[in-house]
Amino acid sequence: MQWGVYIHIPFCRQKCFYCDFPSYAGKEKLMEGYTEALCQQIEIQGLSFRQKWGKPATVYMGGGTPTALPPQCMAQVLQAVKDYMGQEFAEFTVECNPGTVDAAYLQMLRKGGVNRLSFGVQSFQDELLRRIGRIHSGAEAVQAVKLSRQAGFDNISVDLMYGLPGQSLADLQESVGRAAELAVEHISIYGLQVEEGTAFARMEKMGKLNLPSEEQAEAMYDYMTTALPEMGYRRYEVSNFAKEGFESRHNRSYWQAVPYLGLGTAAHSYLEGKRYAAVADIAAYISGVKAGREFWQLEEEPTRAHDMEEFAFLALRTVEGLSRQAFADKFHVELTEVYGQVMKKLAAQGLLTVDHAGCRLTDKGFKYGNMAFAEFILD
Ligand code: SF4
Repeated sequence: MQWGVYIHIPFCRQKCFYCDFPSYAGKEKLMEGYTEALCQQIEIQGLSFRQKWGKPATVYMGGGTPTALPPQCMAQVLQAVKDYMGQEFAEFTVECNPGTVDAAYLQMLRKGGVNRLSFGVQSFQDELLRRIGRIHSGAEAVQAVKLSRQAGFDNISVDLMYGLPGQSLADLQESVGRAAELAVEHISIYGLQVEEGTAFARMEKMGKLNLPSEEQAEAMYDYMTTALPEMGYRRYEVSNFAKEGFESRHNRSYWQAVPYLGLGTAAHSYLEGKRYAAVADIAAYISGVKAGREFWQLEEEPTRAHDMEEFAFLALRTVEGLSRQAFADKFHVELTEVYGQVMKKLAAQGLLTVDHAGCRLTDKGFKYGNMAFAEFILD
């Protein structure tokens, strides 16, 4: 059976100003205890699902910053994955911060079975990086990618951001150009969202966040959606572009509602049609695992309408879109019975293409995705 594993590492050297992910700076003292607890969870839960479903197709280690873990802790986690989940996965990705890896660390990852790296670069301009709270420079990002090649990685992704404070279109063009020059296989580009509870949200309230205007942000969006395909990166999802054959298999499985097991703090799981979430607090997670207590809980049972909405949202994020067959197989009802009117309306607005296979967002639909997604809400 096809399934995936997500491993969460909740540590970061410093909190980026825009970040609302479950990650913490200044918790180095908990790293060893966390590693032990995580390995224990991999042994107990990971092994039990492996025995039931076979080896997972994909493993994704994210965060936080997985590479903020000291080498000995990372080596322990990689060994636990090998011992209890298997090896030679179709895809085993580790998210990396360019400011936390050197040649030896990258070689350890490669030898430990990792075959894909995803670098959070965000921008190659040092001034911009400083303004958003990143710990690395543009030159360090270039160096990290080069060292990864030397360590034997032939599948590398780079994350970039647009709509950053003080960022110009020329800045974005330079960053995209530099990522392409490095010949990375995959590029993700995210527009900045100012999330509650972040340093940027506080700065915005004080009127101190100098964001690009809507027109400037739109020009950046238009640039990336035209320039990246011209550089050989096909768009396969709202924010993701890849050279042929290098689309992220793990992310694809989320969009296709494939089951996954989440390990570590704040990790979500989707197993046998039910969703679970682990505690976000690191100390509570460590003591919970060690004492054999419940450290994850069943999330509220979603309604059928909610399941349909989520299925539609996830599928519409991809260029393949929402398949009539897949929808009917899952919900035993025709797609048009549920969304026929919505599909007609969005097609008339030029946001959706509808055909015998199903429906998918047009270029305009991707650009105004939120407007289109809102129509798919049923409740
Ligand atoms: S490195 Fe990533 S997870 Fe950590 S604070 Fe920055 S954006 Fe958030």
